[in-house]
Amino acid sequence: MKVHEYQAKEILKRYGVAVPRGVVTDNPEAVREIAKELGGRVVVKAQIHAGGRGKGGGVKLAKTPDEAVEIAKQIIGMTLVTHQTGPEGRLVGKVLIEEALNIDRELYLGITLDRRIGKPVVMASKQGGMEIEEVAAKDPTAIHREAIDPILGMQPFQARRIAYALGLTGTAFKKCVDFCQKLMQAYIDTDASLAEINPLLVTKEEDVLALDCKMNFDDNALFRHKDIVEMRDLAEEDPLEVEASKHGLNYIKLDGTVGCMVNGAGLAMGTMDIIKHAGGEPANFLDVGGGATAEQVKNAFRIILSDKNVKAILINIFGGIMRCDRIAEGVVQASKEIGLPVPLVVRLEGTNVELGKEILAKSGLNIIAADGMADAATKVVAAVKGA
Ligand code: ADP
Ligand code: MG
Repeated sequence: MKVHEYQAKEILKRYGVAVPRGVVTDNPEAVREIAKELGGRVVVKAQIHAGGRGKGGGVKLAKTPDEAVEIAKQIIGMTLVTHQTGPEGRLVGKVLIEEALNIDRELYLGITLDRRIGKPVVMASKQGGMEIEEVAAKDPTAIHREAIDPILGMQPFQARRIAYALGLTGTAFKKCVDFCQKLMQAYIDTDASLAEINPLLVTKEEDVLALDCKMNFDDNALFRHKDIVEMRDLAEEDPLEVEASKHGLNYIKLDGTVGCMVNGAGLAMGTMDIIKHAGGEPANFLDVGGGATAEQVKNAFRIILSDKNVKAILINIFGGIMRCDRIAEGVVQASKEIGLPVPLVVRLEGTNVELGKEILAKSGLNIIAADGMADAATKVVAAVKGA
């Protein structure tokens, strides 16, 4: 799960991580008072779940409270396009009004999970402001890496090594050591999967602060972080994915034309591969799970069909715990209720397969039966081309 910059900064503040003073609002008229309170010179920052806002015109400096109001009026309600939003951009609902700080240096500090070693790893670079992927591609030696033991936490010597790698000395060095340790604590305690501070700011006064912050959290750990779940902004998520998660379906929307309904994540991945192999493009990843009910199958069907790009559907089920007859019933019910506007290819195998096939055959629906995955993929791709 992702949160907005202002929410990530609220979390950091609880751990004593230094962040600029700021107030979030969706009302441009409230901005004058907020800006006065913050000292007059402020930065107005669009709150969307994507980076690159500065370059896209979503982060602007205001020298006076009146100017801040004008900028807030422009930014709230705008569709902000950055290299991370895709060409359709994102509608800005809120802005963060932040005190404008005196920038001396912009550095990079990020923590994420290194799956290869099974530990969080801190990445630090003097080249802040730039995307870390870009730094990694152009000059990988410019990134200092520090693997952290999740039980022991960040050791003081590791924090000092990071501050040294960032080229800091004196007061800024000490502040950075403190900053790194507190950030690591926040990352571990909240079950974060990413905490990216870009830029990590060193001010002319030698303060060290998180000028920007992006945090992601492990969805599987959210059950123990009710406060973070409350920060979820559904407006930032794909509506079909939100709908699917309500029904306990693992659904991810993609750009292709073949809608897929599959049970089991591995089979779903395999199905996507074989569709591509047959010359088609999957419209989604969808795992209906091991013990899906007819009701869930119906919901899955409805979600696939609400994607207007879908030109044909492939149902690929291996009945283990999931019985083929139950899937077949769900499909028949759903097609009767919602209608079947596109060709449907079904491949069933496993428990009660004969019964399942019989239900489909007797349904009177226009279903293309397939034997095996290759046959199913070929048939569904042909159906897309025909449609
Ligand atoms: P994004 O990464 O989405 O472009 P940032 O929060 O990193 O957004 O802001 C972009 C740039 O704007 C920063 O690199 C910094 O130069 C400037 N900036 C952001 N917040 C402040 C602030 N409070 N004071 C001064 N400059 C700021
Ligand atoms: Mg940034």
